[in-house]
Parts: sequence; C-alpha cells; structure tokens
Amino acid sequence: MEIPNLPLVFDGHNDTLLNLHIPNRGKGRSFFERSETGHIDLPRAREGNFGGGFFACFAPNRRQDGWSEESALSITESGYTVAGAPPVDPSYARGLANLLTTRLFRLEEESVGQLAIVGTAGELESCLASGVVATILHYEGAENLGPDFGALEELYDMGLRSLGLVWSRPNAYAHGVPFRFPASPDTGPGLTEAGRELVRECNRLGVLVDLSHLNELGFWDVAETTDAPLVATHSNAHALCPSTRNLTDRQLDAIRDSDGMVGVNFAVAFLREDGHEERDTPLETVACHVDYLVERLGVERVGFGSDFDGARVPKEIGDASGIPKLLGFLRERGYGDAELRKLAHGNWLRVLRQTWGG
Ligand SMILES: [Zn+2]
Repeated sequence: MEIPNLPLVFDGHNDTLLNLHIPNRGKGRSFFERSETGHIDLPRAREGNFGGGFFACFAPNRRQDGWSEESALSITESGYTVAGAPPVDPSYARGLANLLTTRLFRLEEESVGQLAIVGTAGELESCLASGVVATILHYEGAENLGPDFGALEELYDMGLRSLGLVWSRPNAYAHGVPFRFPASPDTGPGLTEAGRELVRECNRLGVLVDLSHLNELGFWDVAETTDAPLVATHSNAHALCPSTRNLTDRQLDAIRDSDGMVGVNFAVAFLREDGHEERDTPLETVACHVDYLVERLGVERVGFGSDFDGARVPKEIGDASGIPKLLGFLRERGYGDAELRKLAHGNWLRVLRQTWGG
C-alpha cells in the first residue's frame, strides 16, 4: 500500500540482527528477500517507507542461566511479573555481539549500496535523502563490551554509536527493570561507579547512552552524569500503560528539559492499558502514546522505536511494511506534514547530531 508524500521513518530500535542470526527465530530467512517471518527485510523496508534505524546487538540469556521469559512469568491479579533475569557472562555477550556486528557489516557489503552503517549525522542525512537504508550499530547492554569497558573506544572506531547500559537485567554498570505490570520502574539500585565512568566515556567519544530498560534510579544517575540529551530509544508513557519498561511523567519532564527524545515502542505489552500481549490492538492505542508524549515533551522530542523483530506488535502494523498505515492514521488525526517529518526522522537526526557532535 502506497500513501503518497509520507516521510521516511528512521526508527529507534529493532532486533533484526538477532532474528536473522538465531535459526528458531528467523527460520533462516534472508534480509534481501521478502519473508512472512519477522518484521524487517529490505523489500518490506522499501514497501513501508522504513528508512533505517538503530540495529541492536543483544545477547539473550542462555539455557544454562536457568532463566527464560516464559518460565519466569507469573500472572498476578491485575497483570504479571517476570522474575528477574540473571546477569550474563560478559565474555559470552561480547562474543555474540561480535557475531551480530559482523552480520551487520556483511549486510552492508551484500546490499551493494542499498544499506549503510552510519557514523555521523551527515551520513544519516544523506542516506535519508538518497533512499539508502541507514543503520546505526547499537549495543543493547554494556556487558556486550566484554569484561572491560576499555573496549568501547576500539568499538567506536569500528562504528559503534549507541549503547544501552542494560537490558532488563543487572550488569557491572547498572540494573535493568524486570518486566512487571502494573509496577513502577523504581525497581532497584542506581548506577555503579563503573556505570558513571562509562557514561562519561560515552560522552567523551560521542556515543549515545540509551535509557530504555534502565531502572528509575539508574535513569536519574545518568541524568546527573551525562552532558548529552536524555534518550529512551524504545519506551512509552507509564501514565497510559503502567509497565516497568515505560517512563513516568517525571522522567519525561527530565527528557524534555535535556532536549532529548523518546522513541514510541510498538510492543503491545508496553502500549495497552491492560498490559496484555494482544496483537489485536488498534492503531489508536499507538497514537494515544504519540499524543501523550507530544503533549508532554513537544513534537520536537518524539519519534518511533518500533522494537520490530523483538516484540509482538499490533496486527494492523504487522511489520515494517505497515508503517504507512500508522503515519496515515496520525495524519488523519491532525498531524501536519512538518510534524510528521519530525516524528518520522527529523527529531532523531537532530538528537543524533547533538549527541555525536559535528
Ligand atoms: Zn529492548
């Protein structure tokens, strides 16, 4: 479906690399062929005005950790609670992150000019102008750096431009939120001293520090330490969906005051007011988070962070090819062309330029 004059979407988060990498997730699909498995491949990106995004490298817990999201889940009277995931071995995380990074470089090579890994705002801008799918190498969880965060500089030189301090588990730097609903994101201690040092090192190099998955005390510690705009790449409004993964009004105000931004997550569990993993969730529910965040932060500080290939998304969006339906819906709701362009990619471009420098 083609809706004319819709801007390209640059997106704050996907788990496509892991989906392609793990046979029982991606079923061996190729990024270059249209598939019904997963959410993003090149043909569906083209159909859906998907101009690129943050491509996450994430190391899931292994069977030997004795933890899986399914087995850790318990249903409560008003929602659910997932017993906290244990930390993973940093050497394992680094090894898997290396494989996923290699995979992204291979995609760039095989795409013969259709996909590029960007390291500057200028490169991102020219990709968006010419229709080259722009990718940012993002590490979700600082354990991916390996046992010593001294590796950050070498990874930066290779192309790393964004780092989530944590996934939803603890590591040497910070504590991620366990998945709970309804519950506050204030779930444990803040950053460790190493965590504060890592934030300063990210500032020095010009690496974006992603706040999604971080608990509330950690959030405030980053806010106090960093000199960059505060960014949550894939989180929603806690006032509309009280999941630990979402941001409270106070957090949103701090993001606004730092001139940072939030990428709206399409995961139904972080959208719905009942927290249910229900694909039959209307576009209206996504739009309500967009409206709320725009109201609270300003239209300059909201974008998208789909969580494609990492989460269950509304049926009407379906996958990357469905993005125009959401943009069309927002347009009908009253968002003008200039506003849609900001939400779609303009705000990401602005925040990345500010964070990376140059
Ligand atoms: Zn995530």
